Amino acid sequence: MVPSHQAQLASVAAVKEELARTILLDICTQDTISLTRAYEALILRESQGIKPETPMEWKVCTNCSKIFHDDYNTDTACHYHMGEMEPDDDFDVWADTDERIHGPIASEENKEEFPEGFIWDCCDKLGTDPGCQTSRHESPEETLAKEAEESRPTSASRTGTGAAEVASLEVGSDAQPVKRQRTE
Ligand SMILES: [Zn+2]
Ligand SMILES: [Zn+2]
Repeated sequence: MVPSHQAQLASVAAVKEELARTILLDICTQDTISLTRAYEALILRESQGIKPETPMEWKVCTNCSKIFHDDYNTDTACHYHMGEMEPDDDFDVWADTDERIHGPIASEENKEEFPEGFIWDCCDKLGTDPGCQTSRHESPEETLAKEAEESRPTSASRTGTGAAEVASLEVGSDAQPVKRQRTE
């Protein structure tokens, strides 16, 4: 049986501060109307001189798109998929969808509106299933720094080869191991 309205309110009223923040963020991440209402309530209170107790810097995670703070980031805080959402051929709605009329099935709008009609190609799970990857949340700055680190050429891959070979090495995304195997 679902508890009464009053009982639900009493439970919500008794929630600890940190959990309240997490729940509020979850609600606001899933629902833009709630986000707008929460934001407007915050602006209203600020205009009345009520400042937030602990001004903190929140970031948006590049893996899972959720909002996080470094103080509450752990190795298991972030769940995401590393692959792409592919249309599920067994999904009824797609059977009635003509891409020539309705546009591509694998559009961002469809992925948002019908996540249950997609399969993650990283783990073959449903579009609505929680992420198969677990990690720390990652800020846009951290992602940029990581990408810069990965794209930096190592000096070892650039010695003693002709121009053509260097060019072909740069084409491959991970060409270094191939070169190391050639020992003759
Ligand atoms: Zn996955
Ligand atoms: Zn995350």
